[in-house]
Amino acid sequence: MSKIVPPRTYRVKSFGCQMNVYDGERMAELLGAQGIAPALEGEAADLVVLNTCHIREKAAEKVYSDIGRIVKDAARGDGAIPLIAVAGCVAQAEGEEIMARAPAVKLVVGPQAYHRLPQMLARAIDGERVTDTDMPAETKFDALPARRKVGPSAFLTVQEGCDKFCTYCVVPYTRGAEVSRPFADLIAEANRLVDAGAREITLLGQNVNAWTGENGKGRLIGLDGLIRELTALPDLARLRYTTSHPTDMTDGLIAAHGEIEKLMPFLHLPVQSGSDRVLRAMNRSHTSESYLRILERVRAARRDIALSGDFIVGFPGETDAEFEETLSLVDAVGYAQCFSFKYSARPGTPAADMDGQIATEVMDERLRRLQTALDRDQLAFNRATVGKTCEVLVEREGRHPGQMLGKSPWLQSVHFTGKAGIGDMVQVELAEAGPNSIGARLLEIIAV
Ligand code: SAM
Ligand code: SF4
Repeated sequence: MSKIVPPRTYRVKSFGCQMNVYDGERMAELLGAQGIAPALEGEAADLVVLNTCHIREKAAEKVYSDIGRIVKDAARGDGAIPLIAVAGCVAQAEGEEIMARAPAVKLVVGPQAYHRLPQMLARAIDGERVTDTDMPAETKFDALPARRKVGPSAFLTVQEGCDKFCTYCVVPYTRGAEVSRPFADLIAEANRLVDAGAREITLLGQNVNAWTGENGKGRLIGLDGLIRELTALPDLARLRYTTSHPTDMTDGLIAAHGEIEKLMPFLHLPVQSGSDRVLRAMNRSHTSESYLRILERVRAARRDIALSGDFIVGFPGETDAEFEETLSLVDAVGYAQCFSFKYSARPGTPAADMDGQIATEVMDERLRRLQTALDRDQLAFNRATVGKTCEVLVEREGRHPGQMLGKSPWLQSVHFTGKAGIGDMVQVELAEAGPNSIGARLLEIIAV
């Protein structure tokens, strides 16, 4: 075993969902606590962590092309290949294969084991190739350093894993069973996030609305209860949550949208398909009808709520007529923004072995038609907000001089020019709707 020079700088590159972004931030904090500094923009890092996503084939393939690029870049530079670590769901699902296929990788760590990164790193420096894809009983969260510095909008993972077993999805296998983090830990972390500069917190979970726990008085509460408790943090201006499952949209959570001012008027509620036969084959526990009823109730609670969803086209056996049902559902809802994907057969999931796998060209055409409809609705939603006055949380500077960027309550990207700082809450008038963003006029700075 040949030893490696201990890394002085690191770079964490996260792919996929917001939960991966959160994990990436926590890994960075962990490496920072070891005295390893983040590599500067454009500078080669001594340690590269690829925090991967396994949800679709394309996402998984990116890992190998990234490893290849890192090795090539090193050969063009001083020839020193950085210490490459693969984390996230590809690491969990294909750890052994990565080690066999990519000799440059020295460390493989699953999403439930990354709190052990410092010990693994020490072994890798000693020349060992280390894999840890355990799902240990102890929670990683207890072993992570406290949050120090975050942006105005921060993520907080409250729930992990999934017991729903949709037939296309790898999450129950890569992230394990559904687990809710304890209430007290979440309140403590939320406090630290606010102290570190967060004005908005997005609560995260693969099924975030399945979160449940005992509050400070020992009473069993759901996500709506947690949101209510978090509104007590005076310096926290906004709360969001994602991603939800229709089955776990409780009466309390629906009512919360009408009652809690700090809860932003936005709901991401994936439906996947508008066909009940396809939904059954996907093992989704809702129908298109029951899904639409939930949205109706949410809209009744909060009239201006912006709706979002996820769709999969080309699930095995999906007929043209069934795909048309998805388009009809889209027309019925009028989404503000959505994610849509071609079905990707994931090894080990039941759908991968189903009859009727759909040809790529058919999926391409369905995705094109679906995205045309979703883009149309997104632009219509943005146009309908023009003329409205609303608050924007300023998150960063734009590309043009004096331009600032932030989010509206409806999660639209808003840009405006004016003297406001990052972290300010400003009042704007939405003025110009584009397909992906809104131009606004700054009216006043409400809070700095
Ligand atoms: N838990 C959430 C739910 O139930 O809707 C979604 C979490 S999943 C990480 C995000 C999205 O990826 C899913 O809503 C689905 O649309 C998409 N997805 C998952 N597996 C997929 C697959 N095999 N092929 C294509 N898209 C997939
Ligand atoms: Fe995957 Fe379904 Fe669980 Fe969402 S609910 S993470 S799509 S298995």
